[in-house]
Amino acid sequence: MPIHKKGKRITDAEVKEVLALLDRGKSKSAVARETGISQSKVYRLWSDKLARDADERAIQQREEEDRKRPCVQHVFIREIIKEDSPKTVATSRTEKIIEVKRCRLCGFEERRSRFHQIN
Ligand SMILES: [Zn+2]
Repeated sequence: MPIHKKGKRITDAEVKEVLALLDRGKSKSAVARETGISQSKVYRLWSDKLARDADERAIQQREEEDRKRPCVQHVFIREIIKEDSPKTVATSRTEKIIEVKRCRLCGFEERRSRFHQIN
């Protein structure tokens, strides 16, 4: 029994039904017959779906390529980590200062440490 009444707007449920039937390999004319939706509309819905799928694939591919590409210029965030050195040199205490520069985009890290004397 056709679910669609001629002249009425095609509902989301009907669109889903049409795409599901086509996905199962039914011909467009068979789907049109079954649902009562005109064949030209069935064609349109299907090509819209294919276009959406292609767009999605293109976006995914672009995102993947973006992830693989190294930064042209890293965007560093600087972080200073101070560590009290357990060793004491003579009367002065040394403090280890680690400077971490981490790229916000790709996660590349650069560490530099130096010792700083506190008298
Ligand atoms: Zn980077």
